[in-house]
Amino acid sequence: MKVAILYGKETLRIEKREIPAPGEGEVLVRIKTALTCGTDAKVYLRGGHPRMITPPSPFGHEFSGEIVKVGKGVDRWKEGMRIMAVNSAPCFSCYYCKREEYSLCEDLLFLNGAYAEYLLIPERIVRYNVYPLPDSLSFAEGAFLEPFACVLHGIEKIGVKTGNWVSVIGCGPIGLLFLLILKAKGTRVIMIDRILERMEKAKELGADLVLMGKEGVEEGVRNITPQKKGVDISIEAVGNPSTWEQSIKLVRKGGKVLLFGGCAPGTSFTLDTHFLHYHEITVKGVFHHTPPIVKRAYEILRDRIIDVQPLITEKLPLEELGKALQNMIKKSGIKTAILP
Ligand SMILES: [Zn+2]
Ligand SMILES: [Zn+2]
Repeated sequence: MKVAILYGKETLRIEKREIPAPGEGEVLVRIKTALTCGTDAKVYLRGGHPRMITPPSPFGHEFSGEIVKVGKGVDRWKEGMRIMAVNSAPCFSCYYCKREEYSLCEDLLFLNGAYAEYLLIPERIVRYNVYPLPDSLSFAEGAFLEPFACVLHGIEKIGVKTGNWVSVIGCGPIGLLFLLILKAKGTRVIMIDRILERMEKAKELGADLVLMGKEGVEEGVRNITPQKKGVDISIEAVGNPSTWEQSIKLVRKGGKVLLFGGCAPGTSFTLDTHFLHYHEITVKGVFHHTPPIVKRAYEILRDRIIDVQPLITEKLPLEELGKALQNMIKKSGIKTAILP
């Protein structure tokens, strides 16, 4: 089978490997669609990720496919079933898991290797985080389970109410997924970016206002909110200390800020202590997803409460993965469906 192997910074090779055989509790999946993701672009640029992937390693974590073989003891899944899944599962026994804070698990098992013809899913993920892909969803739509679960995790942590005013900095794949679920929840959404193509997409997907992310954007946001107070909730979906700072300036008194985008290791940012204190601002960091969230994300996709199809702007074969990642780095297009 063909597998993309990440060797380090911007070094990637498509290699031939043996098709693995599933052991006890495992399933072997023929990948039908793998999606490019901002995290993969970062990993490709930086040559790894402290928590998720150490090269040389197979690569890619958003996928859907068809089961071709199941290991001993697997009875829920059969050959030929279409599935969607996520890239990790917690241990359910550590300090954090016992407190049901599964995204903080000390032994989170990560799965990489979606950019390949076949992928072996480990027993723990088979047990907790694999779902049947309904006939009504395409493989490409099913592959959104992982990124959408991350977004839904953020939405549930920050607590969104119908009628809220929400701003989102970043109109990349994650920012746009936030937009889709926020509109489904009946909020007013202001989207902010600097790339016209992405701003256009946000407009197309129902943003109430799209603003250029330049100086003075705080005023633009305030001006459209009731009594020019600012938004109830501000979300950062870029992963840059300067946009982290900016996102905090957009909320009204009593407002909440969700810092979703992961910044480079070792970076920091500044907070105005008086603003935070006297305006009673809540600032929340968020990471990854949990099995209960994955289940709810699955139900939302299955019931077509959001339509993720418009986020796929290109389809490419596995051989052109390098090009797809370069496009992601250049912020051209939204998501590429890799078809191995
Ligand atoms: Zn991802
Ligand atoms: Zn754990």
